[in-house]
Amino acid sequence: MKREQAIIIGGGMAGKLIAAAISPYFLHVQILEKDPQPENKNTVRKGIPQAHHIHALLHAGDHALERLFPGFQKDMIKRGSIKIDSLRDLAWFHHGVWKLRYKSGYPTLLQTRPLLETYIEERVNQTANITYVYGTKVQSFLLTDDQSKVCGVEVLKENKINKVSGDLVIDTSGSVSFTKGWLEKQGKTVPEEKVDIGLCYATRKFTLPEPPNDFKIKIIYPNPAKETIGGTLSMIENNQCIVTLNGYLNSLNPAEVKDEQGFIHKTAMLPLPDIYQELQKGTSESETAIYKVPHIMWRHFERVNLPAGLVVAGDSICRIDPVFGQGMSIAALEALAIRDYIASTSPTGQLKKLQKQLAKIIAPAWLMVLCEDFRFDEVKGKKPLGLKVLQWYVKQIFLLSAKNKSIYKDLVRVTNLVSPAALLFKPATIIEVLKLKKEDVEKIDS
Ligand SMILES: Cc1cc2nc3c(=O)[nH]c(=O)nc-3n(C[C@H](O)[C@H](O)[C@H](O)COP(=O)(O)OP(=O)(O)OC[C@H]3O[C@@H](n4cnc5c(N)ncnc54)[C@H](O)[C@@H]3O)c2cc1C
Repeated sequence: MKREQAIIIGGGMAGKLIAAAISPYFLHVQILEKDPQPENKNTVRKGIPQAHHIHALLHAGDHALERLFPGFQKDMIKRGSIKIDSLRDLAWFHHGVWKLRYKSGYPTLLQTRPLLETYIEERVNQTANITYVYGTKVQSFLLTDDQSKVCGVEVLKENKINKVSGDLVIDTSGSVSFTKGWLEKQGKTVPEEKVDIGLCYATRKFTLPEPPNDFKIKIIYPNPAKETIGGTLSMIENNQCIVTLNGYLNSLNPAEVKDEQGFIHKTAMLPLPDIYQELQKGTSESETAIYKVPHIMWRHFERVNLPAGLVVAGDSICRIDPVFGQGMSIAALEALAIRDYIASTSPTGQLKKLQKQLAKIIAPAWLMVLCEDFRFDEVKGKKPLGLKVLQWYVKQIFLLSAKNKSIYKDLVRVTNLVSPAALLFKPATIIEVLKLKKEDVEKIDS
């Protein structure tokens, strides 16, 4: 027996992926999106302004998308995505060293977020029992008479308030989600971790006369604590490249990178001049897009006694530091977890453990991000236990990734969310870490 109707609040990446994942278990799935339908399919909507910026797809996300939409990779390549070998074609400068480059057999795709999202939206719209409704803002949840279960939502559409009922409501409205505030009005406190990082993104697209012949994506990450601004140049569809600058602790001033000249000038200030040198020959193809992430946050809904029939997912739970490219992949992993959970419970079954499972997907990614973000002295927030030791160990791993193939491969698997962090604590790796000479580390730091 299938459940009747699922309602998804917000048609961003998490909303679409979860709708696709759970559609076999419901007669009908409705995605309610507040934005009006865009006239052109590749337009960046008001509700997802981050789509102007570089969006890396980690291996975990790539694999999950292939499971949700069989044929995904082939289709995307036909549409212009660039298939790369993640270790050979990525030039990654981090903690003062270049990571090794070699053929790994770990492929991934490069493309703009609109190219990716348009494809996913098309696949979702091809699913007979999913309806994607634009121009519908969800304002509140509806509760059963005994207040124990969410049984639908109240929406604002064309200035009219309506009610939409459903067996399951999944909030994927992103970091602006009203669920925490709504629960608090019901007397339930949602514990929240917040870390102030003062991050600013600035992005422009360029055409280069010749694509770079020795890489497809180059990341120049700042060496904390003394450097705070990094940059990435990634090839994308239509023979263009996208260049993103990211500055922590409010060190990137949007006014200084607003015009082409200011933007290119800033790339010259990066720890290495590589991106600046590429852009000398480039032609700018867009305005500068700016996005600020003053803080990252994790709302711990798994610690709250949520009413039955309500699940929270995607950025509504956790806005993670986007520099590490994890958000869409976490959403894709959550979609698979929600699907598997629903598949294994009866239509009247409880969903309490599901919220805890979603928290388990977020936890390792969140710790990885805190480990790196707290290397900047002025980042403010609650530090995890044992942070100093973890930071020391992970730094050795980063440095070893410049000369040890096997350790680098393990690091790539962990940062791409396909293997647990335990992979970096194998006895052979611990021995290599302990052998790394103090002078080597100091040389890089100086
Ligand atoms: C600058 C930046 C760069 C990023 N780079 C990467 C990257 O490289 N790789 C990566 O994987 N991730 C990246 N991310 C993260 C990624 O964009 C998100 O994690 C991912 O898209 C999942 O978001 P979401 O769908 O949960 O929320 P959102 O993208 O915020 O979508 C929420 C949707 O809900 C709608 N909505 C909001 N309120 C309501 C309401 N009341 N009723 C109806 N609809 C509503 C909004 O209009 C929107 O469409 C980046 C994020 C930022 C900010």
